[in-house]
Amino acid sequence: SLPHYDVIIIGAGAAGLMCAATAGYRGRRVLVLDHANRPGKKILMSGGGRCNFTNLNSTPANFLSDNPHFCISALKRYTPQDFLDLVERHGVAYEEKAPGQLFCRDSARDIVSLLLTECEWAGAEIRMKTDVQAIRDDGDGYRLTTGAGALRCSALVIATGGLSIPTMGATGFGYDVARQFGLAVRPTRAGLVPFTLHPELKAHLAPLSGISCPVEVSCRGQRFREPMLVTHRGLSGPAMLQISSYWHPGDALNLNLVPSRQPRDDLATLRREKPQATVEQYLARRLPRRFAQAFAELQGWRGPLQGYRNADLERVAEALSQWTVKPAGTEGYRTAEVTLGGVDTRQLSSKTMAVLDRPNLFFIGEVVDVTGHLGGHNFQWAWASGVAAGQAV
Ligand code: FAD
Repeated sequence: SLPHYDVIIIGAGAAGLMCAATAGYRGRRVLVLDHANRPGKKILMSGGGRCNFTNLNSTPANFLSDNPHFCISALKRYTPQDFLDLVERHGVAYEEKAPGQLFCRDSARDIVSLLLTECEWAGAEIRMKTDVQAIRDDGDGYRLTTGAGALRCSALVIATGGLSIPTMGATGFGYDVARQFGLAVRPTRAGLVPFTLHPELKAHLAPLSGISCPVEVSCRGQRFREPMLVTHRGLSGPAMLQISSYWHPGDALNLNLVPSRQPRDDLATLRREKPQATVEQYLARRLPRRFAQAFAELQGWRGPLQGYRNADLERVAEALSQWTVKPAGTEGYRTAEVTLGGVDTRQLSSKTMAVLDRPNLFFIGEVVDVTGHLGGHNFQWAWASGVAAGQAV
């Protein structure tokens, strides 16, 4: 007879490993399968190699989904503090880089080690370099055809992640399994991804590559006040990555380069007090000098403020607080941190992540249509959904 497991989890990433440990501690016989050569590859490259493993201020408002309430239950039952307790129990050194954003102090490897240690203690088996070729419902569980032979399990968990960074082993496998069992998959697109620009603006901004400045960016009713980074390919930095998850092709971005200022009043005051001052000089007080220079040039703002009429000041103020940029596109899955869309949550239990009419099949982590903002929220979803399934399988 075939090797039989209580639970087989496909995907040894953040969600899969968390689920494996949770189920293992409950006495389940667990096997994790993954086609990559080592577990947790995305964890290793995350947060610039330091893994922003959670965000203490995470709330359901930090997640995008076609069904926004779905994530609430799992996130409430496994909180950022719960994961932090685990990190502390393992003695992993960490630091809060920005408010709420917790990173490893030394290396993301510490998080992978933590997860592998948990799996070992829980008795969960992990088998890497193993493809899954076919899955069949055999009545009281599933029969898998894999590179390591045929296997059987009572419950199957899909934790294969999204499409971003294909070079790291990302595949559409989880979506295919969902479709095989008749589930709907919401359209996917790249999220938390840099923008590319049309040639003219790109050429104009290219010399500013490497410069970062604080902006407030908005699109489709969402707003982020964070730094923007000009790159040789286009626009990046936290502000752009965050808004990219809301952006659709053809949308314009609205940028405020002087958030928290009233540029119209500032400029009128400056014109009165220092008629010889230029718009560029005004900008250089608030933005990196080279950026101020290039922006003034792009807009054709020359000469002293005394030459500007009130209507001119209005126009300048508007261009500063409502600079409209229409990206050409995004860099796509090649560099995206996450994949938006995925398995439609309306067919899943928000408590257990099980398919509603197929209680022994589970979807967890990024393959599900739940996507977090930048700042540790995506891992928090991986941990929380992994634990939810691990407690139910
Ligand atoms: P993954 O961690 O991607 O794991 C999926 C696993 O499934 C992989 O091991 C893969 O090899 C395996 N797999 C895929 N297809 C198959 C198949 N066909 N057969 C067998 N196995 C398969 N989030 C944060 O919260 N903080 C950060 O600092 C952060 N930084 C990031 C930086 C980068 C560059 C990237 C790309 C992402 C970052 N993210 C970050 C997002 C985060 O990494 C993901 O949201 C998270 O890893 C998703 O967990 P998961 O377990 O669902 O999928």
